[in-house]
Amino acid sequence: MQLVDVHCHLNHALYKDDLDAVIKRAKEAGVKVIVCSGVNPPGNRQVLELAQKYPEMVKACLGMYPIDALGLAPDETGLPRQTVPINLDEEFEFIKKNKDKILGIGEIGLDFHWDAEHHSQQEENFRKIIRFALELKKPIVIHSRKAEKECIDVLEQEIKNKEILVVMHCFSGNKKLIQRAAALGYYFSIPANIVKMQHFQMLAEMVDIQQLLTETDGPWLSPYANQKNESAFVIEAVKKIAEIKKLNVEEVAEQIWENYKRVFGR
Ligand SMILES: [Zn+2]
Repeated sequence: MQLVDVHCHLNHALYKDDLDAVIKRAKEAGVKVIVCSGVNPPGNRQVLELAQKYPEMVKACLGMYPIDALGLAPDETGLPRQTVPINLDEEFEFIKKNKDKILGIGEIGLDFHWDAEHHSQQEENFRKIIRFALELKKPIVIHSRKAEKECIDVLEQEIKNKEILVVMHCFSGNKKLIQRAAALGYYFSIPANIVKMQHFQMLAEMVDIQQLLTETDGPWLSPYANQKNESAFVIEAVKKIAEIKKLNVEEVAEQIWENYKRVFGR
């Protein structure tokens, strides 16, 4: 069985002491690829280093988290902290130089949960980053917390004819928004905590399996109480999707793997 965790933060401080073991457990659980997403310039460099250190297992996406782009990252996220606004053009140059080493651009998007004041600035940054991804012809991984509709509005305006593929990570929008994003051909990556989240169960039921991916968002969103999340647990998402779609686990894993290859290309 080939499993894939399309969204994880292996450069998080919580993995500092046991990363080799985390990777090993993932491999033993059948995980073939872990896509690690960067959120800011120092984080992007760490993600690239991890992809180099574990070349078969770990793949990189480089991104600019909406809050980090504003320089407003909260303390103690466990990821390198961004306290000044990101110079987007400089980071674009860096990403361009490394474009052959990455699968996509992410995570990027809008977050109205952590920031109530700079929504138009967030949107301006988001548009700039999407245009950069279009130029690079890379898929994008979208964070849309409390800004699901606004994200889709921007994506719909900026991307015509599926020139680049879009992955909605941990999408918490309502049914209408799920339908809208699905109709636009976007993919949804389902976190392993679907086992306890009714919302993701509904999402997995509504969306065609051809548009589903699986993730952990580790170390966050663990499916198990009192245990930090890790890529090996992505099997929980596959199992739950299989139950919902009334398919066997192997079939679902196979389809998700096909979807992964279609989106990220390798
Ligand atoms: Zn994330």
